[in-house]
Amino acid sequence: MEMTEQIVKSIMDAELILVGIGEELDSFKKIKASSSYEEISKKIQEKWILPFVRKAMLNKTEKETQIYGPLSQVLENKNYFIISTCQDGGLGKASFLEERIVEPCGGYKKLQCSDACSNSLYEIPDDIMCQIEGYLRGECKESELKEPLCPVCGKPLVFNNVEADNYVEEGYIGKWNIYKKWLQGTVNKKVCILEVGVGMKYPSVIRWPFEKIAYFNQKSDFFRVHSMLYQIPHELGERGKGICANPEKFLKELSNGF
Ligand SMILES: [Zn+2]
Repeated sequence: MEMTEQIVKSIMDAELILVGIGEELDSFKKIKASSSYEEISKKIQEKWILPFVRKAMLNKTEKETQIYGPLSQVLENKNYFIISTCQDGGLGKASFLEERIVEPCGGYKKLQCSDACSNSLYEIPDDIMCQIEGYLRGECKESELKEPLCPVCGKPLVFNNVEADNYVEEGYIGKWNIYKKWLQGTVNKKVCILEVGVGMKYPSVIRWPFEKIAYFNQKSDFFRVHSMLYQIPHELGERGKGICANPEKFLKELSNGF
């Protein structure tokens, strides 16, 4: 049996499915590595602008980031939970259940006070994104861009993600608690664990805990897909499978399995 078929079968047979999505699949990885981003980042003097440039570039490439379709089909009507360390919000654009996704590293959807003077999250003002897009089209100068400021203390607002100096965790903590509770329900159940593109950037969020869950749950299957770091602990024996593959390609090929 082909590996994708085997994974789809394991998902179908499982009572619960735990999915981890990691940094190899983050669209920002591609954006940061692009020559156009490199060029802009050399040109820009004010550091605060760069994350907004990344956000504008993400908006532009949004159509290409629809890679989760086949996975959402396989998981339809199943009892699943997805944990992702990506910051591109890509999962939210596929047809997963919103309440079954947790993104502990945050993203580029909301802003927070850089000083975290409160736990409040703020919408991104439309005009700042318009300004940035205009700047990228060469319609205005960098000096004309206005940094959004905290309405409470007047310090700069930054994107609500793990790169903020004072990360406000309110954006995900509620769902994290639901996830923890869901995990308790996997004990002694037939669980399929699928990890895609998770490397060593935040190993304590997905990689290590998943290994532990797989180790203790004798009824679990564990699939790790990564372009390089696909190795799995030998203690998992036959239940663990490391798959050396490009994670994006792998996700697309999932549709061949059903
Ligand atoms: Zn503030």
